[in-house]
Amino acid sequence: MTENSSVQTAKEKKQTYNFNKLQKRLRRNVGNAIADFNMIEDGDKVMVCLSGGKDSYTLLDILLNLRLNAPVHFDIVAVNLDQKQPGFPEHILPEYLESIGVEYKIVEENTYGIVKEKIPEGKTTCSLCSRLRRGILYRTATELGATKIALGHHRDDMLETLFLNMFYGGKLKSMPPKLMSDDGKQIVIRPLAYCKEKDIEKYAAAKEFPIIPCNLCGSQPNLQRQVVKEMLQTWDRLYPGRIETMFSAMQNIVPSHLCDNQLFDFKNIRHGQALDGVEGDIAFDKADLPTAPLLLDDEDDAQDFSNADLIQIKKVN
Ligand code: SF4
Repeated sequence: MTENSSVQTAKEKKQTYNFNKLQKRLRRNVGNAIADFNMIEDGDKVMVCLSGGKDSYTLLDILLNLRLNAPVHFDIVAVNLDQKQPGFPEHILPEYLESIGVEYKIVEENTYGIVKEKIPEGKTTCSLCSRLRRGILYRTATELGATKIALGHHRDDMLETLFLNMFYGGKLKSMPPKLMSDDGKQIVIRPLAYCKEKDIEKYAAAKEFPIIPCNLCGSQPNLQRQVVKEMLQTWDRLYPGRIETMFSAMQNIVPSHLCDNQLFDFKNIRHGQALDGVEGDIAFDKADLPTAPLLLDDEDDAQDFSNADLIQIKKVN
């Protein structure tokens, strides 16, 4: 064996090792989110909404794997809504889904035509498009007998939404990991809630999912979301750990130390009444804050390898 080939082998081994760590972390994060929010129960039929983007491919892949060893039995059906955007490569998803042997349905609805007709040229079409899509997916879930609808939103989507709602909506509100549809008929779950977008990007590249570009409709990108995304990415670069701390904060809410009268009964605070389960009295002090952000386990793993490294790994399982 030449020196070159032994170096190459060591590099490949390292890439495989790193990929396995990434895969394990994603599976663990999804498993934890499912358990923490009781997302999937015995006998569920989970409809995985597949757009052709990295997030939904990753979601489907991880759920299919987790199902193999899950303590409960559940079925999976993948659904793609073909919105009839010009140039949509119709063959890609059916070919992929056939190749992995998963039950699937492609729903064809010309929502593209509807939004183009209703929304004036130059205005963003996403809000009407999303409403139409949501209605169609709910209807499809009912037709298929699905008990849960799984979406591919991840931790960074949830944080972006939190800031968007604060900046533009005047609400402390994000995307929940689990929610009931307005009519009470559908339960939507987000099993990637604990997964970092960077991990998903690397995983999708390594698995060589046949990604379908998401700009086929020609809509303007959501500029507000883009600005918030860039703000978070800058913080992540400048202050490592801040994103993780903020996500922890979303799971660690202290209503008695905010100012929402609906959430905490401030009016009825009386002398002599101890406040059960709320954080300490800081009326005269500034809160004690740690000087360094919380770093979650495996946080260093993401630095171990680049996308370019991973792209060379061929579908390791
Ligand atoms: S980007 Fe296009 S397909 Fe996506 S929600 Fe907006 S209008 Fe719809």
